[in-house]
Amino acid sequence: MADNKPATPKRCAKCGSPGELMKAGSNRFWVQCAKYGRNGNCNVIGAQMETKKQAIERWNAVN
Ligand SMILES: [Zn+2]
Repeated sequence: MADNKPATPKRCAKCGSPGELMKAGSNRFWVQCAKYGRNGNCNVIGAQMETKKQAIERWNAVN
């Protein structure tokens, strides 16, 4: 895929930890808080999108 270099995820609006880009399969991407789930006690997670860029834009729009 020829995605443009995606922007960096903003920090979590709730706890200030970095947003981490996650991936499942070849076309499911999302951003979640670095302290999400087993890594901590934050529950902020972005919607799954088809590209890294969309996932980061989605995350940044709500954080
Ligand atoms: Zn957080």
